[in-house]
Amino acid sequence: MSSFKAIRIDKADKGTTATLTQFDEAELMDGDVTVAVEWSTVNYKDGLAVTGKAPVVRRFPMIAGVDFAGSVIQSAHPDWQPGDKVICTGWGLGETHLGAFAERARVKGDWLVRLPEGMSGRDAMAIGTAGLTAMLSVLALERQGLVPKDGPMIVTGAAGGVGSVAVALLSKLGYHVIASTGRTSEADYLRGLGAAEVIDRNELSGPAKPLAKERWAGGVDSVGSTTLANLLSMTKYHGAIAACGLAGGMDLPTSVAPFILRGVCLLGIDSVMCPLPIRKLAWQRLTTDLDQSKMAEITHEIGLDQVIETGPKILAGQIRGRLVVKIS
Ligand code: NDP
Repeated sequence: MSSFKAIRIDKADKGTTATLTQFDEAELMDGDVTVAVEWSTVNYKDGLAVTGKAPVVRRFPMIAGVDFAGSVIQSAHPDWQPGDKVICTGWGLGETHLGAFAERARVKGDWLVRLPEGMSGRDAMAIGTAGLTAMLSVLALERQGLVPKDGPMIVTGAAGGVGSVAVALLSKLGYHVIASTGRTSEADYLRGLGAAEVIDRNELSGPAKPLAKERWAGGVDSVGSTTLANLLSMTKYHGAIAACGLAGGMDLPTSVAPFILRGVCLLGIDSVMCPLPIRKLAWQRLTTDLDQSKMAEITHEIGLDQVIETGPKILAGQIRGRLVVKIS
């Protein structure tokens, strides 16, 4: 294959352009493993890349797409042989390194995780970066020592990708899950994923008091800003919130009160540069702690030719659950 289909981002006079086009294989960047990409997914960051709404792309031309599953076709890395099924998420894919919305990718073998036994490439990308981030958040809360008897878990942006998987994971682990959403019409969907309560996100979006009534032992926040500040002010003594997103804003107008008066912990979650051993653990846990039938309910499949039109929708919070992209 001397050229392949890809979503190419180019710099324009004003901003950037995104086009589904042929990309020359000779233009692939350095790497010791070449992969036939089979599945990808649309994450919030992909929405930013294809619309150009935020400068996530830092090299031009770029192929968008932050995660893929596929089969190794060539390898100079000792861990990987042709035919191996692999997952790649983050590491700058779609930002600084040519990304996933393409039939071919060339990456470092050290970035790859073996597809877990019993999981298909489609299953892995239904989880994708969003689901991996939800799992990393749960692992961080567990490292903090939280268990279901400590009290409820709040999940914000609950009907989105990270939120939906976090609700499903936490409920399977036995937590009483409170799902916060702007789409209360999705209450049945969220209860189907395992939410015990569904609340309107307006309850958490106003200015936060330094301390408020204790409501939850912990949570997963994909929204940031005043929502995260409210979560912290309502977290029980010695509880913890895993902060992984900024769908509501990048600021954090809080005070030190929850930290110094209740011993609350704020746990930062990054999936992009996350070390390999933690990624491997997270993917392993995803095979046991995530109900595959629930994933089927939250996943919709689209083609590579539908990705660009999906960008504005994910930024507008209009996508429910996860979008998996069939590449080839
Ligand atoms: P989605 O768009 O699928 O979900 C985001 C959800 O946030 C929406 O569905 C909506 O949920 C809620 N939301 C959107 N806008 C607002 C707003 N203005 N105020 C309050 N809530 C809002 O995105 P993802 O789940 O893929 O990503 C969620 C966040 O996590 C993003 O900010 C993303 O950048 C970040 N992220 C971070 C990662 C990391 O490594 N730290 C990795 C992956 C994602 P509802 O309708 O239920 O209210």
